[in-house]
Amino acid sequence: MTKSLTALFGGTFDPIHYGHLLPAVALVEEVKLSQVSLLPNHIPPHKTQPEASTYQRIEMLKLAIADYPMLSIDMREMSQSRLDRPSYTIETLQAWRMENGDQPGLAFILGQDSLLSLPTWNNWQTLLNYCHLLICRRPGYAENSDNPQLKDWIERHQTKNIDDLHTHPNGFIYFANTPLENISATEIREKISNGKSCETLLPPKVWQYIQAEHLYGT
Ligand code: ATP
Repeated sequence: MTKSLTALFGGTFDPIHYGHLLPAVALVEEVKLSQVSLLPNHIPPHKTQPEASTYQRIEMLKLAIADYPMLSIDMREMSQSRLDRPSYTIETLQAWRMENGDQPGLAFILGQDSLLSLPTWNNWQTLLNYCHLLICRRPGYAENSDNPQLKDWIERHQTKNIDDLHTHPNGFIYFANTPLENISATEIREKISNGKSCETLLPPKVWQYIQAEHLYGT
């Protein structure tokens, strides 16, 4: 296990919560990642558009990572040339490789729900040409896909050996043993709009920001 392995963790982060943060921090330890960069998307291709502005989502990310030195923010999907169109992960990974070359290890972190939706992503079967996939467990989502194409693809690329992730720059799928956090941004937005507290679901500074900015109907 010699090479360093960087991970990108893409999401809408509307808002960021402990369901993102705690698995990411646990992954650093489990997989021996050198760092995790949170990768906020400007226009998510697969879901309804964010309620918080891009600026507010970034501000919340900055507040959230203040206490986690192993986490950083990668702003590449926010760059001017990308602002008017959806952020496709495959293009982001290609851009990362153009910048960093073929040799450095790169992983992309996905929750189990996102893995199951992968067949709707642009050129999903070529993602592994650029990175490994690290899958975090998520309560309420099936462990196995009933899509035969996805199932077969996972079987062909899955590894249980962390060394594979460090000795190859890309190409493997690893199911991590990260903590189960029953939290979603949708649930947080709904709770807040119904006047309920979400204090325990996200970092205190993010909660204070949501209240100060009157986000999600506070
Ligand atoms: P929403 O409820 O609005 O769909 P979300 O809570 O799923 O949002 P996203 O920003 O869309 O958050 O998620 C970014 C990534 O984090 C995705 O890969 C998603 O699968 C993963 N993720 C989100 N919440 C969890 C969780 N509780 N446990 C594990 N992974 C999660």
